[in-house]
Amino acid sequence: MSLHPIYRCWAEIDLHALRENLAQIRHQVGENKRIMTVVKADAYGHGLKEIASHLMNSGTNAFGVANLIEAHDIRSRGAGWPVLMLGDCCTQEEREYAICQHIMVNISTVEEAQAFAHTAESLGKTALVQVKVDTGMGRLGVESKDAFPLIQNILKLAPLIQLKGVFTHLAAAEDDTAFTANQLEQFRALLATLAQHSIHLDYTHASSSGGILFEDNSLFNTVRPGLLIYGITPTGARTNPVKLQLKPALSFRCRVSLVKNIPAGKTLSYGHTFTAPRPMRVATLTAGYGDGYHRISSGRAQVLIHGVRCPILGRITMDQMIADVSHVNHVASGDEVVLIGQQGREEITATQVAEWAGTIPWEILTSISYRVRRIYTGANAS
Ligand SMILES: *Cc1c(COP(=O)(O)O)cnc(C)c1O
Repeated sequence: MSLHPIYRCWAEIDLHALRENLAQIRHQVGENKRIMTVVKADAYGHGLKEIASHLMNSGTNAFGVANLIEAHDIRSRGAGWPVLMLGDCCTQEEREYAICQHIMVNISTVEEAQAFAHTAESLGKTALVQVKVDTGMGRLGVESKDAFPLIQNILKLAPLIQLKGVFTHLAAAEDDTAFTANQLEQFRALLATLAQHSIHLDYTHASSSGGILFEDNSLFNTVRPGLLIYGITPTGARTNPVKLQLKPALSFRCRVSLVKNIPAGKTLSYGHTFTAPRPMRVATLTAGYGDGYHRISSGRAQVLIHGVRCPILGRITMDQMIADVSHVNHVASGDEVVLIGQQGREEITATQVAEWAGTIPWEILTSISYRVRRIYTGANAS
């Protein structure tokens, strides 16, 4: 028996939309670029294994992950795919695992390179590495001016280490034109130095979603889209991004449980922060912060019921919240409620939910909790 009918809060993931989004990005960047799809954090809450399988059949060229467990999940769905770990390895066990599973790792220092060479030697294998260059993000990476010497050192460690690529990460692609230009200039200067020394690497890349939208002349040979793949466009201070027809793949849904009429003056939920200004009809909903619907958006959030926007009243609780349905006819127990997604002609986007919660769509997607079952629809759904 399918459990779907008894889910109280669930996410529907449209695999067809995901495939179309990838095709749009492919069209934009061109056939000659590699697309390294970023599937960290459970594929941005969409379910890593399902999404990885689907992308393998939809034209991705490689995957980017944050850790080796994610890399393992990709391997479990298809052997041999290029996978780059975007975080750095910090234990001997991580280094051993990465080398044995042929996961590409990133390197910022000569000490890291030596540790990988040493581990590779003891295993009788080769470590696949890419050099991360810090052009302004300040998180991982070697300073631009020190990148060429590091690369020369790494090349001396062959064949224990095979240098697969060099990359950087943009810190403000959707916000700051000048800062981004400076980052890209540093990266291009390094690539020019490499070319002068006849060093040609498989992978050269800088752009995640923001870079793809705002720096379409700086895609090098590989791009690393995350958010765009899932159908969401990052927004910031910069205008005139390239135009992509993307469709959000994920919708987030729950149900109406109880509908009741309340008199003026009645208060609702913890802390009795909301007082009914007039007689109202309210619906209790089967989702709360335990599902990843941020409590901080209490008093601001809206949901869709029968295709109509309904404000959330009072505090969002762990498993339930209360919506004003005074203006919607015939709301009944069991009716479907949309937290993120389309219903009728209305749509609530992850970006809008993020605004209510004072955060960004990346955090909204990745906070949809384990309790929320993911249901796959569209092409090749399983
Ligand atoms: C998360 C991440 C990406 C993907 O970012 P989006 O903004 O979601 O496209 C790309 N590269 C690195 C290094 C990342 O950490």
